[in-house]
Amino acid sequence: MTDYADHNEGVIDVDRKKTTVAQRIARIVFIVVGVAGIFVSISFAALMSDMISGMLLLMISVGCLGFAMVNFQKVGCPHCGQEVTIHKLNHDFECKHCHKPTAINWK
Ligand SMILES: [Zn+2]
Repeated sequence: MTDYADHNEGVIDVDRKKTTVAQRIARIVFIVVGVAGIFVSISFAALMSDMISGMLLLMISVGCLGFAMVNFQKVGCPHCGQEVTIHKLNHDFECKHCHKPTAINWK
């Protein structure tokens, strides 16, 4: 994916990829599992005084929630042409390869 049309210094236009139905369902499942896991882990720690299991479960749950929020897309760096993976909420990034900052113009 190297879809940048703008050749201005450090600004690229990027088409925001649409999420598929499967991705949305997966995200909802991860959120539900994550939230349920947090409640279960708290009750583990509070009711059974099992802090280790509670903490472990809490970490897994937070991981699930984090995974649900992940929304990455690959764009081409306008300076060096390398593919860079960015989060869709970002409005700029620094290329890992040439370390130049680039602004993203989401379409
Ligand atoms: Zn670059």
